[in-house]
Amino acid sequence: MILVLNSGSSSVKYQLIDLDGPTRVLVGGKVERIGEHGSPVPDHEAALRIVAHEVSLDSPELTAIGHRVVHGGPLFTGPVLITDDVVKHIAEAVPLAPLHNPANLAGIEITRRLRPDLPQVAVFDTAFHSTIPPAARTYAIDREIAERNGVRRYGFHGTSTAYVSRVAAELVGRPDSANAIVLHLGNGASASAVSAGTCVDTSMGMTPLEGLVMGTRSGDIDPAVIFVLIRSGMSPDEVEAMLFRHSGLQGLCGENDMRTVIARVEAGDPDAVLAYDVYCHRLRKYIGAYCAVLGRVDVIAFTGGVGENSPLVRQNVLSGLHPLGIRLDPVRNASASGTRLISTDDSAVAVAVIPTDEELEIALETSAVVARTKSP
Ligand code: ADP
Repeated sequence: MILVLNSGSSSVKYQLIDLDGPTRVLVGGKVERIGEHGSPVPDHEAALRIVAHEVSLDSPELTAIGHRVVHGGPLFTGPVLITDDVVKHIAEAVPLAPLHNPANLAGIEITRRLRPDLPQVAVFDTAFHSTIPPAARTYAIDREIAERNGVRRYGFHGTSTAYVSRVAAELVGRPDSANAIVLHLGNGASASAVSAGTCVDTSMGMTPLEGLVMGTRSGDIDPAVIFVLIRSGMSPDEVEAMLFRHSGLQGLCGENDMRTVIARVEAGDPDAVLAYDVYCHRLRKYIGAYCAVLGRVDVIAFTGGVGENSPLVRQNVLSGLHPLGIRLDPVRNASASGTRLISTDDSAVAVAVIPTDEELEIALETSAVVARTKSP
């Protein structure tokens, strides 16, 4: 049994997973509102104690703990067994992910203290993207300044993208050779180009701000806008907060939840229509770009809350792409949930909906690392 922990700044999500048994997820849940005013959970220590109780952390059947870690910095290109050195390097990546890595570290430190005998593994959101070639990961700025500050594209949603691209490749009968575009559309959103299991480009950058329009993040923007805003009187912190938390769908129409945006679009609200159109246009642009990056595309896979649940977004984003060999089947697109193909049988590019499962992927990677360290 493997405990998967996603220790975030204000919540800890957990799943106890049995990779061998008939039921995979034995226990799962979320401790929320950590450290918030009036919350019964004052800090991560208290949250982890609740989790420890829920999952029987002292159980001898527990074989390992897998931790989601957002930023692995330039060093980590795959999951690793956690040691003091690894903890030190995760701490060094804090400036690259100031909201996420400290919370991930808190989870690691507390569970190492509670179960020092158990192997613990860090699975990084950035790792799957470590294969992106220099041409795609390098920003065209002064090289020395970039290197000194770790400025390059790292990419995020790697665990989800690894899982979804693998399932997509199996679904189209090319498990080892498929070229896939993975669209992870949740509150955060990213597009990735994956060739034969190897990531070759992704839309998020040094931070999760770049790329697609998201719930509250702007995605791509002319960097000069930032200086115009600072010279207009906003502080750097205010501009940063605006771009991360008050932009995207939220900035354009005051609402970050896609369900509500769509309901307002259907009611004819012009702000929601613009927000929705900007969102879909950006997505279509990235699909075109990644068709060019990959040359041949076998499958486009939608995942995340929006990607899995919104036939309307999928239809609007892919409409008019017949010249690229992409044909959506309207009946399949509107059909029930689960992993499935939604393209027509004669579509040159398959289109799939694949519910992501980051916890399962973390458990699989954790189990593989533990097996590797055990074998001589
Ligand atoms: P997170 O990135 O926080 O894990 P999710 O992957 O759950 O989030 O995605 C959340 C987004 O999915 C929200 O914008 C939500 O409105 C959207 N969503 C969920 N169900 C639907 C639906 N039926 N139609 C459109 N959007 C949906």
